[in-house]
Amino acid sequence: MRWSRSLIPTLKEVPAEAEAKSHVLMLRGGLIRKLGSGVYSYLPAGFRVIRKISAIVREEMDRAGAAEVLLPALWPAEVLEESGRMEVFGADVIRFRDRHNRQGVLAPTHEEVITALVRDNVTSYKQLPLTLYQIQTKFRDEVRPRFGVLRTREFVMKDAYSFDAGPDGLKKSYEAMYGAYCRIFDRCGLDYVVVEAESGAMGGSRSQEFMVRSDIGDDKYVQCPSCGHAANVEKAAIGAGPGEKSVEGDGEPGGGPGEVSTPGARTIDEVAACLDTEPNRMIKTLLYVADGRPVAALVRGDHDVNENKLARVVGADELVPGDADMIENVTGAPVGFAGPVGLSGVDIIADRSVMQVTDAVTGANKADTHLTGVEPARDFRPEKIGDIRAAVDSDPCPRCNQPMGLHHGIEVGHVFQLGTKYSGRLGAEFLDESGRRRPYIMGCYGIGINRIAAAAVETFADEHGMVWPPGIAPHQVAVLCLNTAKPALADASQRVYEQLLADGLDVLLDDRDARPGSKFKDADLLGFPVKVIVGRGYEKNGMFEVQVRKSGEQKDVAEDELAGEIHNIIERL
Ligand SMILES: [Zn+2]
Repeated sequence: MRWSRSLIPTLKEVPAEAEAKSHVLMLRGGLIRKLGSGVYSYLPAGFRVIRKISAIVREEMDRAGAAEVLLPALWPAEVLEESGRMEVFGADVIRFRDRHNRQGVLAPTHEEVITALVRDNVTSYKQLPLTLYQIQTKFRDEVRPRFGVLRTREFVMKDAYSFDAGPDGLKKSYEAMYGAYCRIFDRCGLDYVVVEAESGAMGGSRSQEFMVRSDIGDDKYVQCPSCGHAANVEKAAIGAGPGEKSVEGDGEPGGGPGEVSTPGARTIDEVAACLDTEPNRMIKTLLYVADGRPVAALVRGDHDVNENKLARVVGADELVPGDADMIENVTGAPVGFAGPVGLSGVDIIADRSVMQVTDAVTGANKADTHLTGVEPARDFRPEKIGDIRAAVDSDPCPRCNQPMGLHHGIEVGHVFQLGTKYSGRLGAEFLDESGRRRPYIMGCYGIGINRIAAAAVETFADEHGMVWPPGIAPHQVAVLCLNTAKPALADASQRVYEQLLADGLDVLLDDRDARPGSKFKDADLLGFPVKVIVGRGYEKNGMFEVQVRKSGEQKDVAEDELAGEIHNIIERL
């Protein structure tokens, strides 16, 4: 590709609306342009990155035995209504009415359509296992699209679905996809962490996410530096070891809790300020309805309830926060003054850390009143004590009890064992060896194609611009002709450009009539792994200067050694 024939509109200024590094650099490098909120055009350099990522994904999915399909993005609304997921996705689904006044949606994901397709076209166990995938655009009406192409309303996803006759088959299909994902992210040059995850809106049993650590990432995970265990915060178990420190008050152990007036102080911070105490000495009481029964969850004031864990400890299928009426009924007080002491008619579930607090503060189940001097072991009796809170930094690892780190990450991939959630609901069955009808055991597997690009920029960029891993760079090599008005330089540039292309390298020839300084700046901004400079060195002694973007390393190379040298550099990167 010649720069003069492409469209790479680089910008000197930092665009005002961009916050994230990848957003700034992809705009400045002319990779993307914004059309509307959360909607972007990919220009030639940006789309080359997307195509390269897609090609790697395709190769590895094919190698893992998956077959590619292309499913529609435009659906009749019934598809999501029948599966019950219209409610799950809620306002995230983009809806419209067609000319016949029929309700339609733009697909946010494809479980329903693929399950129905297999239901209607596969009949026997002999046709299994089957894994189908596609690379296609999805739509979600994000509340707050942001960070450029990291959180958008329209994005390209690779989604795959496996169909097996039994759990062993699912395990094998899942492992094949897991292996393919590792190869994909390795070939894209990403540093990634695989974390245990909740299956969320998708349901199912096992689920893991592929995360790229980044401060701007929307997802949080904990990772143990000692044994390597990593889990999404929605899932992360907390070790019961010595990391769970007790919090001791400074009050004298007296005869029992005492009432104090805390007018209008409802939140933890308000109460802590009012009573001059710390949130970690307070016991927060949150009321839920678990499968129709009231439940009071206790966590320390500086902690948050993890509803997934709470539901598991309670053994509930459905867990919803109690509303104001329910809270008043159960506690006899307005919202904000609930506490476990004297609370009856409700199961009390305490987080382990609550039981380590002494001389605690909690609501008195009475308007504008709290209790101080509460001793958990003496003053109330929980039905269950367990791990029901969200992990925080330095919490002990559930495997080895060493303190774990809490990090932000960009989720680039996700693998789920779905089981029969969709096949059961949609009547997708096959005939087994003995002629019985059984539902397919399914898995589903997603990769965010655009996010891989943004995550790579976030991870590797430096003060001069993007630094692409060679596998997904817009071009591997940029040949910079420093003066196109000099025929000797223009001819030599053209010659090496053609040689390198013929040698299988992906080359961009900067043949613009521009100053050398801006060619260097633009090449660094675009982050091509290797630059070949055709300038003074060539005029002097016929040598080409080769520069490596990542390390800054440079050397003079003769024309006949150029291709070999560049292949070696790329190999090493
Ligand atoms: Zn550990």
